[in-house]
Amino acid sequence: MASFTLHGIPVSRGIAIGRAHLLAPAALEVKHYLIGEEQVEDEVQRLQDAIATVHRDLQTLWKDLPSDAPAELGAFIDVHVLILSDPMISEQPLNIIRSRHYNAEWALVTQIDELSAQFDEIEDAYLRERRNDIQQVGERVLKVLTGTESKLPRLANVDEASAHMIVVAHDISPADMLQFRDRAFGGFVTDLGGQNSHTAIVARSLDIPAAVGMFNASALIAQDDWVIIDGDAGVVIVDPTPIVLDQYRERQAQLTRERKKLGKLKKTPAITRDGTAVSLMANIELPEDCAAAMEAGASGVGLFRSEFLFLGRTGYHNRLPSEDEQFESYRKAVVAMKGRPVTIRTLDIGADKPLDTAEETALNPALGLRAIRYCLAEPQMFLVQLRAILRASAFGPIKMLIPMLAHAFEIDQTLIMVEQAKAQLRAANRKFDAAIPVGAMIEIPAAALTLPLFVKRMDFLSVGTNDLIQYTLAIDRVDHEVAHLYNPLHPAILQLLATTIAVGAKAGIPVSVCGEMAGDIKLTRLLLGMGLREFSMHPAQILAVKNEVLNSDLTTIVPRTRKILRTYETSAIAEAVELLRAV
Ligand code: PEP
Ligand code: MG
Repeated sequence: MASFTLHGIPVSRGIAIGRAHLLAPAALEVKHYLIGEEQVEDEVQRLQDAIATVHRDLQTLWKDLPSDAPAELGAFIDVHVLILSDPMISEQPLNIIRSRHYNAEWALVTQIDELSAQFDEIEDAYLRERRNDIQQVGERVLKVLTGTESKLPRLANVDEASAHMIVVAHDISPADMLQFRDRAFGGFVTDLGGQNSHTAIVARSLDIPAAVGMFNASALIAQDDWVIIDGDAGVVIVDPTPIVLDQYRERQAQLTRERKKLGKLKKTPAITRDGTAVSLMANIELPEDCAAAMEAGASGVGLFRSEFLFLGRTGYHNRLPSEDEQFESYRKAVVAMKGRPVTIRTLDIGADKPLDTAEETALNPALGLRAIRYCLAEPQMFLVQLRAILRASAFGPIKMLIPMLAHAFEIDQTLIMVEQAKAQLRAANRKFDAAIPVGAMIEIPAAALTLPLFVKRMDFLSVGTNDLIQYTLAIDRVDHEVAHLYNPLHPAILQLLATTIAVGAKAGIPVSVCGEMAGDIKLTRLLLGMGLREFSMHPAQILAVKNEVLNSDLTTIVPRTRKILRTYETSAIAEAVELLRAV
């Protein structure tokens, strides 16, 4: 077979080379037929038994979770248990069997399709992607019903080829990913998924090369095909020629050598060759991630995406984490960071109605009632979070970060609510840091163009380049059809970024970058050249960025960066940024 290349979305670094192991989706093999009245109760029983089996399987997975498993995996299994217990899955398909006389598989697929369509209408990108969780739960039940449970080869049978197995699937559930942990499993490729999909999140936390959003990779790749995943480029090469294979093997070996070398930098302070100190912080999703942040030598947490504490419960449970529960999570994080600052971002989520009807759902969810807009519209819920964060600030240095601000009145309202939360805590005799710094995320172009409003009111700024790019270039960040237009080096982005850093420095308030740009070593020098001194990224990226910092000399980088900021041709910018790495 001729070699071919597929392009998708890079979600996790590194190179994997191995043979494809295909996981076939059960939904494709489902038979649809009508049953007779006398078979209805047997069919109902068959579905109930399959659901009970999956319940038991998930409980076993949860119980056998290795102690070093990423925290997300447990949380994702929880989500699957909740979905499976929800009457929408555990009862509604039974009603379909009874009322329409569909066979069990058909009834289940009908209901899953119906729920998935409703999820597609949800505003919030993260919640929208939970649609995949529902499908994965459905897949599990289907596999039990059809007897096609796809288990991976047992470890004892793993030979040289499968020791470097690349899992190729339409989609992989986090629970299924557990199966791969203890195997010499090289990487994975999925048709579905985006930057925010849980497969991407888990891949990053396991530090495994992966490419998602590959459209029809699982149909094009055959069992046992040789596959190369270039996790940095989001490229998959199928059946490579011997020359290409050799080149990638060489690159892979080089990456392994580099990683080993980087491991020695954990305790080295991040200081440029000309003596400028730089702070490298971690982005975390759950308090448990602090262990990885400490292990990588992070100087603090620059972004705690607090919405992960809320996800998976709204909609299924219909309740939000209580003040005490949130407080416990924030306290855990600040204690784990042992005196290093923890920046907690307040809830960045869309509407709290996962099963909204289409009429109620905004047409442009990314431009809808998100993040601070949502919090200000739900003041009681917001106050609960503000009090929880404030209470945790009695246990170590905490900063509060507010997402998606664009208007002065939003800042003012937020600050009034912070004061209100403080007053409530004082009245209840609760301890907190009265001088807690409050900062703004600069992630809407309007904010980056009206910085004086922000520096006057806020203690620090953090640039969310992921959304700044989305809103400046008008590209939905979860739509893979426009992913190729998502260019951090677009001159408009560089202008907004450089201005924000410069205005912050002039006003004497700290500015960090916490979007994906901060963890991209190809951009480290450019950001240093713009004057950035605080970077926040996934813990797995910290040492590589530190290595860049250690080898940078601002005396040569700054004048070159100024020149880049006067350049408007994207190709010339890309070339000049690449050359920066050579100085
Ligand atoms: C960003 O927008 O760059 C950011 C860091 O926030 P999130 O990716 O969570 O939207
Ligand atoms: Mg953002």
